[in-house]
Amino acid sequence: QRSLVWFRRDLRNVDHAALHHALRQSDSVFCAFIFDEKILNDLPDNDRRVAFIHESLSELAKSLEQMGGGLIVRHAQAEEEIPRLARELGVDAVFTNRDYEPQAKLRDTTVEQSLLASNCAFFSYKDQVIFEKEEVLSLAGTPFSVFTPYKNAWLKKFYADTSDFYSRAYPIEKYAHKLARPAASGIPSLAELGFPAAAERRMPVAAGMTGASQLLDDFMGRMKLYDQSRDFPAIKGPSYLSVHLRFGTISIRHLVQEAIQQMRIAANRGAEIWLSELIWRDFYFMILHHHPHVANRSFKPDYDAIRWETGPQADAHFNAWCEGRTGYPLVDAAMLQLNQTGYMHNRLRMVTACFLIKDLGIDWRRGEAYFAEHLNDFDLSANNGGWQWASSSGCDAQPYFRIFNPITQSEKFDTEGKFIKRYLPQLAKLDKRSIHAPWKAAPLLLEQAGVKIGKDYPFPVVEHDVARKQTLTRYAVVKKVA
Ligand code: FAD
Repeated sequence: QRSLVWFRRDLRNVDHAALHHALRQSDSVFCAFIFDEKILNDLPDNDRRVAFIHESLSELAKSLEQMGGGLIVRHAQAEEEIPRLARELGVDAVFTNRDYEPQAKLRDTTVEQSLLASNCAFFSYKDQVIFEKEEVLSLAGTPFSVFTPYKNAWLKKFYADTSDFYSRAYPIEKYAHKLARPAASGIPSLAELGFPAAAERRMPVAAGMTGASQLLDDFMGRMKLYDQSRDFPAIKGPSYLSVHLRFGTISIRHLVQEAIQQMRIAANRGAEIWLSELIWRDFYFMILHHHPHVANRSFKPDYDAIRWETGPQADAHFNAWCEGRTGYPLVDAAMLQLNQTGYMHNRLRMVTACFLIKDLGIDWRRGEAYFAEHLNDFDLSANNGGWQWASSSGCDAQPYFRIFNPITQSEKFDTEGKFIKRYLPQLAKLDKRSIHAPWKAAPLLLEQAGVKIGKDYPFPVVEHDVARKQTLTRYAVVKKVA
């Protein structure tokens, strides 16, 4: 049997479910990746993620070549190109790893039907998550909508399996002799793909499997401190692996194994909390699978009755938020981090999302779309989960009356103002008491620090206490269901 493995968000050739199964079940296996026109057409020509994928593919292609195979890379519409390629190569089956996003599911159904019509089989595998779909259910047999009981059931299922089945890796190397070398290979350049400027906006992390393992090595030494360090954006607390998880340059099973390994060696609160974050990732994939309406609407339908601010002033506020000009330094520094690097620290994602929704009264979907465009690690499930958490409309979200105060968040999580100063150098001379709300500082202090509010740094676009009251009124429509 001849087969084709279709790579998508799984750009590695180690511990890869679809590649493993294809190699085991076939005599000869081709590998391919399609730069999907339908996806690329909507992106700006300097999108960093395209450069990241491009670089990761070069490494993957080289590694497959060293094993005796190769990677076919095309720029086309995947729905048409995969069946065409299957015919060209004369394969009996296409193997791929499952994607849980609504659009991707539709695409896969179209591809499958088209393949089946020409007698080619289509096999898909779980690879992106530890547990998917209906694998973790409540005792009543229904999907969970609250995280903690989901996590407990997840852990119970995971540990109940003494064969380590769920974290077992999918070996590739021993079947490598079955990899087929394609007649034509080569990757279109970024310019050919329509992204001439993408490579200039390099990401702060290295691409590919090598980039992922460098980050993991670096994080292994810090994992035990994760519980204490993860909330402070000025310090190196988290793993920064999200973009690698997004594009599958590292396997989730490998990361879970590493966390559990650390927990086995000694009681390790850091590893335990980090594992919890990986479980949140599974949780949101599961939510998206069972409730695809969340992609456009609130998880809790009553929250769609909320009336958001619209019109010129709301637009001006939205632009100020996007560009880091709200006058609240932590919010602004966070947005500049996103705009300049494509990454934003988790605490700051919560603070900026809450600010947009509950200080500016703007529909969470506008913020969600901005993050989707700018985050290197953008993942529909986690991004939507995060935004619906902040807007209180999601499953297991923060209560609607919980409204972050952007000044106290700043005092608590960036006490010295180190993170703020990194992105707002004009505030570098302010002391740690005045940096969190510069407009409140004594005029003499501002003068000594060389900061003129309204000129060097903006006045706040809204007053938090006033906005807070307006938000409570706005959310009154959901009071009965909160
Ligand atoms: P670490 O702290 O090292 O965590 C390890 C991994 O766990 C992450 O890489 C990620 O895969 C997963 N993870 C951590 N926190 C969460 C979470 N709350 N939900 C789901 N998975 C989690 N994460 C994305 O991967 N893509 C997004 O588009 C995204 N958008 C977000 C939007 C908002 C408004 C919020 C509040 C959170 C969002 N997150 C998103 C979750 C989280 O902020 C990032 O996963 C994390 O900051 C990535 O950095 P890291 O890899 O250093 O994380």
